[in-house]
Amino acid sequence: MTEMMKRIVQARRPNGFPVAEDFRLEEVPLPQPAEGEILVQVTHLSLDPYMRGRMDDVASYTAPQELDQTMGGGAVGRVLESRSDRFAPGDLVFGMFGWASHGVLPAKACRKLDPDLPPSTALGVLGMPGFTAWSGLEAYGKLKAGETLAVAAATGPVGSMVGQLARLKGLRAVGIAGGAQKQALLTERFGFDAAIDHRAHGDARAMRTALAEACPDGIDVYFENVGGAVTGGALPLMNLHGRIIVCGMIAWYSGETDETGAMPLQKIWRMALVKRLTIQGLLQTDHVARFGDFLREVTPLVKSGQIAYLEDVAEGLENTPAAFFSMLRGGNTGKQVVKL
Ligand code: NAP
Repeated sequence: MTEMMKRIVQARRPNGFPVAEDFRLEEVPLPQPAEGEILVQVTHLSLDPYMRGRMDDVASYTAPQELDQTMGGGAVGRVLESRSDRFAPGDLVFGMFGWASHGVLPAKACRKLDPDLPPSTALGVLGMPGFTAWSGLEAYGKLKAGETLAVAAATGPVGSMVGQLARLKGLRAVGIAGGAQKQALLTERFGFDAAIDHRAHGDARAMRTALAEACPDGIDVYFENVGGAVTGGALPLMNLHGRIIVCGMIAWYSGETDETGAMPLQKIWRMALVKRLTIQGLLQTDHVARFGDFLREVTPLVKSGQIAYLEDVAEGLENTPAAFFSMLRGGNTGKQVVKL
């Protein structure tokens, strides 16, 4: 009898915010590894905001997700069968296996995991999101002790790493996140100097007032994760020679037209000139040659507890779309993974 595996494919392009009908759970024959490949049973898969962008058929920094194919994404799992001398059955690996129970990839496209750490850390704090934070600050942050950094989605894997790295370098770190529970996490678990609830400050003016109070010396580094009202509140507080690292803008990923954060382009341009701002787009893949440096520097900090992390674990492949929608709306508390 043919052995089968489960996977979730994108069934159609979403119309605005994605819904369950945009996906389909199906069974397909278990693939067999060719020479140089490994067959892996996935234990945890990663849910990331960029996946929403790939669901649309628009040109971006990655190709759109193909319809009727396994939803792409990072995952970790155990090697079932290896046709490469890089891996043995039982090894824990990271690879782009997507939303699936199993996958086959070339061994050279996979990374062996540190057996002393929970495998799911390779999807968040010690994976792509943690690396995004680290590489963005390394390349563009020009962090100086005594300065102030602000970041939103600050309990997530990117934002929490940004804040903690800034604190380790002696900056004042101000975190923005939604809801009372996340405020407590920001200061108590991640060590932010101040926390702001963006849900309690629904437009740019209110956000600006809250940020001004939390950043009495202005903002030197604004790490942009969200867009919307948070951005509208933060930009006017930028200091001379401030750095804006544009990493993501999740408030606008489903074509939202809520312009509570919008500032006229003339104002933004004038501010960039008067304050001599640096506005720098960040794409972590540009820095991938430094991934080893990141792991060498940050792994010991995670093991010693100097860098804290938090994961939100949904269970079951069939619950992946619901966990994905929840993450896009801020329902996740920490890095969203799905345990299979
Ligand atoms: P995450 O924080 O785990 O999840 C996204 C968070 O965004 C939600 O939990 C929610 O948190 C917040 N959010 C959603 N809508 C919002 C809104 N309208 N206003 C304010 N906050 C909102 O995600 P992540 O993986 O760490 O990613 C954070 C950002 O980095 C995303 O924009 C992502 O696309 C970007 N990113 C970029 C790169 C790159 O190479 N450029 C790589 C990785 C990630 P709250 O409950 O706090 O609202």
